[in-house]
Amino acid sequence: MKSYRVCVVGCGYVGLVTGACLSEIGHRVVCVDNDSRKVDMLHAGKIPIFEAGLETLVKRNVKKKRLRFSNSLSDGVRESQVIFIAVGTPPRDDGSADLTFIEAVAREIALNMKGYTVIAEKSTVPVETGEQVERTIMRYNKKQIPFDVVSNPEFLREGTAVEDFLHPDRIVVGVKSARAQKVMAELYAPLKSKMVMTDLKSAELIKHASNSYLSTKISFINAVGRVCELVGADVTKVAEGMGLDPRIGRAFLHAGIGFGGFCFPKDLEAFLYISRKVGYDFDLLRAVKDINEQQRALFVKKLEDSLWILKGKTIAILGLAFKPHTDDIRFAPAIDIIHRLQAQGAKIRAHDPVAMDRAKEELRDVVFCKNAYEAVEGADALALITEWPDYKALNFKRVKKIMNNPLIIDGRNALEGSKLKALGFEYQGMGRPK
Ligand code: NAD
Repeated sequence: MKSYRVCVVGCGYVGLVTGACLSEIGHRVVCVDNDSRKVDMLHAGKIPIFEAGLETLVKRNVKKKRLRFSNSLSDGVRESQVIFIAVGTPPRDDGSADLTFIEAVAREIALNMKGYTVIAEKSTVPVETGEQVERTIMRYNKKQIPFDVVSNPEFLREGTAVEDFLHPDRIVVGVKSARAQKVMAELYAPLKSKMVMTDLKSAELIKHASNSYLSTKISFINAVGRVCELVGADVTKVAEGMGLDPRIGRAFLHAGIGFGGFCFPKDLEAFLYISRKVGYDFDLLRAVKDINEQQRALFVKKLEDSLWILKGKTIAILGLAFKPHTDDIRFAPAIDIIHRLQAQGAKIRAHDPVAMDRAKEELRDVVFCKNAYEAVEGADALALITEWPDYKALNFKRVKKIMNNPLIIDGRNALEGSKLKALGFEYQGMGRPK
């Protein structure tokens, strides 16, 4: 196996996992971040994010001297043959992706390259960004050092990121030159995964199209759920019956409060924006976005319909992260729902197994509780937002005793409604009969 000297720029959810996993398969990796606090933490052996298996991987490879951290991009770039750009691409107000970080990194790479370098876009970027990165590097690359830009979008999922990276369904590489293609093929060879080699623009589009398709599937089943509620059918059964058809599949057919997180909402917006910019109005995606937003309003309406006046009522929020097994609260439905409830004067008690520290930075006037039982004590309603397994395993007899009013609104259809009703709860899921 050929071992490469790799630099990963950005030590976030994608960058840190990429760096740790590439070192695990034998490459020598330096992970760079301009947030000194993150780099200090990593030097102290602490992992800034919650991700299963990551700490072990980082510690093992640091010890083997295959992985190190730096806050100097020039230090990382100088010695590397392959550089992954894994910085954030947050949404702007108009929905477009803010590529400021990408451009800044491209410029610095150009100023510090020493020999032939492959620069891989790992961040999710709109189509044609690769060309811009290439132009930027050419402009600042005064010594005319040879380089190639490739697009290598990442498909890992937070919560199972290490597993996803080490056992991917596919590795997509958008590439122009045979030289860069060989480097990328050798770099990933130990993963023994199917590789899709294509041009830069197609690779960039594969990422946006994949995330937008998954978002569409979620909004589709949520729309079906709305019809189910109107006619008294059960969307979980409809989804089961649909999903057994292999052409449809069961994945992402779960009705609920809709999608959130750092990827789906912003990638959908960015795809809508870029399509419009190049001359195609992707109406379908606008509907996907609208349906997703309606789900949160619907969830709050269910609380209003049951409790009538929310002012002064105590709502127990179980789950703050945008999905289980992560501490990420970026664009998490919980944050939006809490703001909506607070706007109506509701009092919030909240719990999440790992996301409370991050949520505290984002939320005001919330009582953060050390466990779910503490959160539901004296509450007028339990609002299940994130389907952590711990919440499914709660002792609901005990929950009923300590709540002020036995109302459960299950935003993820994660609980067994019939059992809860038998215990005396008023239970409502999403897209299911009352
Ligand atoms: P993140 O915010 O967790 O990490 C980005 C990191 O880049 C931060 O630590 C930040 O300090 C650092 N950074 C910014 N500018 C820098 C610079 N000039 N030099 C060095 N470091 C810099 O973001 P993330 O979740 O890892 O996402 C990164 C990209 O990957 C985004 O484009 C995202 O859409 C994409 N992506 C994310 C996921 C996911 O599940 N989070 C999955 C696939 C793709």
